[in-house]
Amino acid sequence: MVQNRSPKGQAGSVVIAGAGAIGLAVGWRLAQRGARVTVIERGEAGRGASWAAAGMLAAGIETEPGEDALFHLNRRAQADWPDFARELRQASGIDPRLRLDGTLSIALTRDEVERLRAAKALHARFGVASEWLTGDAARELEPSLSPRVAAALRVAEDGQVDNRLLTQALRAAFLAAGGMLEENTEIHALAREGGLVVGLETAHGPRRADRTVLATGAWSAALLPSLPIRPVKGQMLALGMDVSRPLLRHVVWTQKAYLVPRDDGRLLIGATVEEAGFDDRMTAGGLLGLLESAWRALPTIEDAPIVETWVGHRPGSRDDAPILDEVEPGLVVAAGHHRNGILLTPTTAELVAELVLNGRADPLLAGFTLARFSSKAA
Ligand SMILES: Cc1cc2nc3c(=O)[nH]c(=O)nc-3n(C[C@H](O)[C@H](O)[C@H](O)COP(=O)(O)OP(=O)(O)OC[C@H]3O[C@@H](n4cnc5c(N)ncnc54)[C@H](O)[C@@H]3O)c2cc1C
Repeated sequence: MVQNRSPKGQAGSVVIAGAGAIGLAVGWRLAQRGARVTVIERGEAGRGASWAAAGMLAAGIETEPGEDALFHLNRRAQADWPDFARELRQASGIDPRLRLDGTLSIALTRDEVERLRAAKALHARFGVASEWLTGDAARELEPSLSPRVAAALRVAEDGQVDNRLLTQALRAAFLAAGGMLEENTEIHALAREGGLVVGLETAHGPRRADRTVLATGAWSAALLPSLPIRPVKGQMLALGMDVSRPLLRHVVWTQKAYLVPRDDGRLLIGATVEEAGFDDRMTAGGLLGLLESAWRALPTIEDAPIVETWVGHRPGSRDDAPILDEVEPGLVVAAGHHRNGILLTPTTAELVAELVLNGRADPLLAGFTLARFSSKAA
């Protein structure tokens, strides 16, 4: 029996499955609004995709045809980031190092120049301010770029955060707001009673709550098989840079890889996009492809040491957009953020917290229901 189930609009209790950026941020927002929140995580908080990401905030450069609803959500998230980062820093004492210094998408061949022109046309259609640069103008901004760079597109509004600092900050802010975190606790199933989801069954016993949020990233379908969410493997590596003379200042995109300079002296290079289930091996082909693409853009990486390699699993849905929806009475899903989960963290947290507390779906969420998949199939 469900006891003391709080009516919508009253904070009540919430249990959240998964302590990635999404689960922690939703938990933080709910705890701030007076809910009694417990986040349950099978490992350590923030060690899933949110740890593996590159942290790019790329609503502009990642715009793709046919992704209108996602574009508007991404754009809103880009606008939410500065205030979110400031508030998070104050609440946690940890700076997630938001940098809004723009991204450059570069072209080395005639074919790649044509693709950049198509991207520029798409930006114009979506209202993204992007600036066309000649190869020389691109090298003025980034002197280490190859002389073979023929053109570049600069999107000034894009940027990056340090996603590993982000999850540390979210964890601290969530705890400071009164949230409870249970790590090293495997969730086996959703708990249901009388047609309601009433919490989670975990390795350490049942965890009951008025409302449940599923934020288990790429693993979400294991707990709710109706979710069309699968792991999309990404391999990445980091090179070491001399912080006083960084190899790059902007995030740079090539056709097959991106390069992300961090304040801590790492130059991230990512990422492969593979349908390989939960395979977590770095492969020779993966590393070779990333290094070759990065070296064509930035030949000076040749002498840089490789300081880290890793693999992560993006939570990919069938249309690459998240599911942010009350899918059953008592159960809200916040998963499937694929390649934009770090970018979407502030906005997901705010909109999902509102949905959980008041049952009110912001109009922006209309494109992110679970039902969109069945209606497409029909
Ligand atoms: C290589 C790579 C590069 C990326 N680059 C970017 C980028 O530049 N910008 C961007 O915006 N996004 C990027 N992403 C995407 C982004 O990382 C994800 O969309 C985002 O981190 C998803 O967050 P999440 O909290 O949903 O998932 P996760 O961070 O994976 O968290 C889910 C958590 O749930 C836990 N969990 C799962 N099942 C259970 C269970 N049964 N019991 C208990 N706990 C469970 C997991 O242990 C995990 O901690 C990238 C992803 C990858 C892999």
